[in-house]
Amino acid sequence: MRSEPVVQVRGLVKRYGPKTAVDGLDLSVRAGTVTAVLGPNGAGKTTTVEICEGYRGADAGTVRVLGLDPVADAARLRPRIGVMLQSGGVYSGARAEEMLCHVASLHAHPVNVGHLIERLGLGSCGRTPYRRLSGGQQQRLALAMAVVGRPELVFLDEPTAGLDPQARHATWDLVRELRADGVTVVLTTHFMDEAEKLADDVAIIDGGRVVAQDSPEELCRGGAENTLRFTGRPGLDVVSLLKALPPDCAAVELTPGSYRVTGTVDPQLLATVTSWCAQHGVMPDRISVERHTLEDVFLELTGKELRA
Ligand code: ATP
Repeated sequence: MRSEPVVQVRGLVKRYGPKTAVDGLDLSVRAGTVTAVLGPNGAGKTTTVEICEGYRGADAGTVRVLGLDPVADAARLRPRIGVMLQSGGVYSGARAEEMLCHVASLHAHPVNVGHLIERLGLGSCGRTPYRRLSGGQQQRLALAMAVVGRPELVFLDEPTAGLDPQARHATWDLVRELRADGVTVVLTTHFMDEAEKLADDVAIIDGGRVVAQDSPEELCRGGAENTLRFTGRPGLDVVSLLKALPPDCAAVELTPGSYRVTGTVDPQLLATVTSWCAQHGVMPDRISVERHTLEDVFLELTGKELRA
């Protein structure tokens, strides 16, 4: 039996004065998965996530989180979700460890604070006031605060923005651990590699709407033109090669001896190219298939113009 989505957003609208930040957005998050929400600056990601968290009201549409209304049922929902905001929301004089212990004490079954501090490399700054922590340490503390209550669902707003590579990897490991424990994770990010590595589902938001939602693999496969490259002796008869290929393909010698075939690259196309090479006594030195990356797909869907 398929379980109900953990987050179900339908026709969500949010306006700030004349500005429509979220414009009829639909989003569904499956239980036990990691969903990455991507989108250009100002696309409406944070607004959407904050409405799901119950921090903002919607102007129209329906939002259900763990089957509850995030505003009307806030008291029942809060203990079940973890939230990492972009701006920490922490009293500046509070010490990291105290803060974490305090948040842990508000929950019935918190995770071990010491373990979490160790896990996120905060051991050396547990007694440091929040305002004295580095940006990356503040980020990690915010992440720890989001997960210490052992939530069923965690919202992470740009969890690795400004982190060094070590801290990014530690964060990714923690997200993977959460998923392995059955926790559902919704994260916003501008890092395509983060979404590709972590997410089961990627939702791309632009202009306040979800313009695509699927697994990273499907998004990269769907509709994208792919590329096959091979190297061989210079001056091969590209017109003859083209005749052997399906009609949607193009073939070109980019530099002497370096060939590129574009089109729908599937096993059949690979076989056609290698058999054409065999028929023409060509031994390709190197043959490679390039799939579109998530960044290619993202830019195709959302364009290259900078956003206001
Ligand atoms: P980013 O990637 O830059 O964090 P985002 O996708 O999270 O962007 P939002 O923060 O949701 O985008 O903002 C969506 C739009 O709504 C933007 O144009 C932003 O300027 C506007 N906006 C957000 N909050 C407010 C507010 N409190 N008052 C007025 N406008 C707002």
